[in-house]
Amino acid sequence: MTAELNIDKFEDFIAQYPIFEYRILNTGDLSVEERVRIVCQQECERYGSTWACPPAVGTLKECEERIRKFGQAVFFSSVAEVSDLMNMQEMLQTRAAHEELTTEVARFLKEQGFETFTLSTESCDICEDCAYPHGKPCRHPDRMHPSRPAIETRISFSRWFIKTKIRFPQSQT
Ligand code: SF4
Repeated sequence: MTAELNIDKFEDFIAQYPIFEYRILNTGDLSVEERVRIVCQQECERYGSTWACPPAVGTLKECEERIRKFGQAVFFSSVAEVSDLMNMQEMLQTRAAHEELTTEVARFLKEQGFETFTLSTESCDICEDCAYPHGKPCRHPDRMHPSRPAIETRISFSRWFIKTKIRFPQSQT
């Protein structure tokens, strides 16, 4: 069964949060690219440190198959106030709120009958000491959001603005 998101209801829901903007994307507009993983591997200190990062997120092919299973996606950004843009510590402290917001949006979509796969901005730091390097399973798989860059996605912005409806290929109804 194909479900369709009620945009009015969705906008009423997100109005209570500091969501700066959102777009409905076709997953066909998401490029899954090897070079993003290479950047992860060569440039990011979190590579191989959590279940939310490569290589734990799976091979490139597995990531692409997982994404393509969904016809469309909700992509959004949130805003947070900081006193100094150069203060990285303060910037990072705003991240928890964005993660909670991401969880709330996913919960809303699930309640509307959609199957969801939630990605977020960074690696996971729910636990002080991630279980991955210790060879143990993730302690909070229901709360952990794999990093969107870790899934090697690059978004084609040019097609954002023609989307007015969302259709997911599968629903839980
Ligand atoms: S929830 Fe904990 S164990 Fe799971 S990925 Fe995040 S930090 Fe690691």
